[in-house]
Amino acid sequence: MTDSCIFCKIVSNEIKGDIVYRDEQVTAFRDIQPAAPTHILIVPNRHIESVNALEVGDEQLMGHLITTAGKLAKEEKIDQGGFRLIMNTNADGGQTVFHIHLHLIGGQPMKHPMG
Ligand code: 5GP
Ligand code: ZN
Repeated sequence: MTDSCIFCKIVSNEIKGDIVYRDEQVTAFRDIQPAAPTHILIVPNRHIESVNALEVGDEQLMGHLITTAGKLAKEEKIDQGGFRLIMNTNADGGQTVFHIHLHLIGGQPMKHPMG
C-alpha cells in the first residue's frame, strides 16, 4: 500500500470501486472511463509500480492476473467473441496509473491500433 496510489485505495476499500472480483492476491474493478462495453482492470493487491518493477517470484501473481482475466471474460460472455488484454508501461506505453494493471477490454470489435 502506498498512500497516494488510487488503485491501492480501491483495493483497501478506502475509495469505492465497482469491484467485480477479489481474492487474496488480486482485485478486479470496472474502469471509470470504459473504452468498450466491458472494460475491467485487474490489479495485484500488493503495490507494484509497473512491469519494470517485477521481480523473480512474481510470475505466479502475473499468471494469476491473466487467468483471472480469462475467468472474467467468460462471466462477461465476451470469451467467444474475443477480447483484448493490455498492460501499459511508462510514458511511451501510455501508463497513467503507476500500480500495475491488466486491462480486459471487449464486447465490441477492437478499433484501437497496435503501436
Ligand atoms: P493506464 O493508462 O495506466 O494503462 O490505465 C489507467 C486506467 O485507469 C485508465 O483506463 C483510467 O480510466 C482508469 N482509472 C483512473 N482512475 C481511476 C479510478 O479512480 N477508478 C477506476 N475505476 N478507474 C480509474
Ligand atoms: Zn498501488
